[in-house]
Amino acid sequence: MQLYNNLSAEERATLIEQAGKERLTISFYSYAKIGNPEIFRNHLFIAWNELDVLGRIYVAHEGINAQLSVPADHFQEFKDHLDSISFLEDVRLNIAIEQDNFSFLKLKVKVREKILADGLNDNTFDVTNKGVHVDAERFNSLIEDPNTVLVDMRNHYESEIGYFKNAVTPDVDTFRDSLSIIEEDLKMHKEDKNLVMYCTGGIRCEKASAYYKHKGFKNVYQLEGGIINYVRQVQEKDLENKFIGKNFVFDQRRAERISEDVIANCHQCGKPCDTHVNCANEACHLLFIQCPECAEKLSNCCSKECAEIAALPYEEQKALRRGQIKSNMIFKKGRSEVLKYK
Ligand SMILES: [Zn+2]
Ligand SMILES: [Zn+2]
Repeated sequence: MQLYNNLSAEERATLIEQAGKERLTISFYSYAKIGNPEIFRNHLFIAWNELDVLGRIYVAHEGINAQLSVPADHFQEFKDHLDSISFLEDVRLNIAIEQDNFSFLKLKVKVREKILADGLNDNTFDVTNKGVHVDAERFNSLIEDPNTVLVDMRNHYESEIGYFKNAVTPDVDTFRDSLSIIEEDLKMHKEDKNLVMYCTGGIRCEKASAYYKHKGFKNVYQLEGGIINYVRQVQEKDLENKFIGKNFVFDQRRAERISEDVIANCHQCGKPCDTHVNCANEACHLLFIQCPECAEKLSNCCSKECAEIAALPYEEQKALRRGQIKSNMIFKKGRSEVLKYK
């Protein structure tokens, strides 16, 4: 039985193009007790590979976190398969706002320690004792309440290009850092303020809300289904949109435009720009914001040095990389010293 991809990203992209079929980009998560993640992982891979599903899926003892794309004409079969799994029956599916047939080019189902890297010891609190889920309408009115503190639970490179007006956006690189910063900032208001939080699709708030309740916060709310689901409701119910800029997403699209506001700047020249790119030097791969002019000037790289390396023949680049630790683990996203405006 084939349990791994046998096509490269390029081969897959060609197949998708030839098929000419519409694909849906979807994300969902569920906290559940999974006895044997390995077996569950294989089960998913076999079933979804059959349906031509592509994406990045994490499975752990604590549940599943999935970002994927499925051909529109297989959607019903895919949904039926989800419904056949007890803890995924009627799971909320976040359907992307901006569709792109090439959002994922491989099917990767991975067994992980956690479905969300949180740096927390799970035994200390109960993740199922979570905050109140609110829909877009309730969220809009809650965040108008002067007694509300609105917190963005995402990382700096995500909120840099888009956020809810008046939200606190911690300048952090990890979810764990966010948790402690917010806790410290709000420790005097555990009982008198509404703590309202949001993230991309809801999974981070699921953990965070349980964490803050465990830490003694009394009024904890989370945006159900995150920004993705909020925008969908705003469109369907014609509500006021309070999100400005772009919603950062974790697939090839990198972001969905939500409002026309461009709130970020090119990290190289400072001009208004909110397009994330990865440095074209594979050994660097730094994620940063770059305008078309700077991209042209620096051959899609973060620095002159990277542009020089990227211009070398592939074999020479490989030789240079040998023995180095993966540099994208060293560089923080959008935080390299080589960037002037960050
Ligand atoms: Zn620029
Ligand atoms: Zn670079």
